[in-house]
Amino acid sequence: MAQSVTIIGAGIIGAMAAWECARAGWDVTVIADPGAQRASDGSLVWLNASTVTDPVYADLRGQSLTLWHRIKTQVPDCPVEFPGTLLATGDGFGADQAPVVTPPQAADLAPGLAQPDTMYFVKDEGRADPQAMMDWVQGQLAQSGVAQVNAAVVKIAPGCVTLADGTERRCHKIVVAAGNGSGPLLAQAGYELPVIAKPGVVFWTNPVPPLAQPVVMTPELDLWQRADGRVLVASSLAKSTQDDARLEAARVLQVLGETFPGQSFQIERTVQRDRPVPADGFPLVGPVPGLEGVFCAVTHSGMTLAPIIAQTVLALLENRPHTMAEFALDRAIQTPKE
Ligand SMILES: Cc1cc2nc3c(=O)[nH]c(=O)nc-3n(C[C@H](O)[C@H](O)[C@H](O)COP(=O)(O)OP(=O)(O)OC[C@H]3O[C@@H](n4cnc5c(N)ncnc54)[C@H](O)[C@@H]3O)c2cc1C
Repeated sequence: MAQSVTIIGAGIIGAMAAWECARAGWDVTVIADPGAQRASDGSLVWLNASTVTDPVYADLRGQSLTLWHRIKTQVPDCPVEFPGTLLATGDGFGADQAPVVTPPQAADLAPGLAQPDTMYFVKDEGRADPQAMMDWVQGQLAQSGVAQVNAAVVKIAPGCVTLADGTERRCHKIVVAAGNGSGPLLAQAGYELPVIAKPGVVFWTNPVPPLAQPVVMTPELDLWQRADGRVLVASSLAKSTQDDARLEAARVLQVLGETFPGQSFQIERTVQRDRPVPADGFPLVGPVPGLEGVFCAVTHSGMTLAPIIAQTVLALLENRPHTMAEFALDRAIQTPKE
């Protein structure tokens, strides 16, 4: 009989891990609280490695990008595309990582962009529509026979998860991939998981003429343009209130106007979500110390990192070596004292 794993969370991390495990023959159940926020729905989905300076972390992100390319080759209906990234950040950024582009090359890649003196182009980086991405991965789970339960998990213990209605579900292994819900779940078991919920927002503009093929990173904004002409712009908020989002929308509109002179932008849609961000900025992926058979996977940049984290989760379940040993949880949490 196949070994069973319960994965808590159906954001990009839980869903991609579930897909990986199901394809490897595990009996997989995903349990997700329909009332909990899902950061994955509000992501810019820029798949990147070029903006990271820590070499080990940059390498990890590069490995994950390679896996996204492989997924796209194997499953062509995956909505990821790889138009690269134009770093329109001016001097002093990106010089080590990417070739400088000339103004005519930049105009080709991003007509209409007000060009700083120096720009860099990083090929092979990707992006995807957030909704299309989550629908696609959901489809993969359905095809792979993953069981899905809509419920809040309130307690975890080795081999058993307890749902809000008191139901206990037994399984061989458990993976906590609940984004910002992971901390409260582990707190119930006595752990203090250092994850901070950082408010973020993606604005969708009105359709405008073709402005940029690649993802564009400026000193103030990260953005990309959909085929229908709408521009998605990601930003951070001090607080996740509607007032803060409105203020930020006004700033974004002003900066967009300066970034693409002569265009007229409006905000059509605002999607606010909290990013789950480990306190030291690096992924927290590994066994929960002291809880036999229980693993955790929480990270920022989860869209970029989902494939490598999914591979790592499977390796952890099967007790095989993996590439994320430096990102284990025991750097941040210990077994609670009795
Ligand atoms: C504005 C914004 C822009 C971003 N841009 C990018 C980007 O360009 N590139 C990039 O790589 N990353 C980006 N990110 C980060 C990325 O989106 C996140 O790292 C990723 O979505 C996290 O996925 P997750 O599966 O860990 O969590 P989530 O997507 O938050 O999913 C959590 C899941 O856990 C479930 N859950 C929670 N608590 C419980 C419970 N007690 N019981 C059962 N289920 C529970 C929820 O229902 C949900 O299904 C961005 C994030 C934001 C907010």
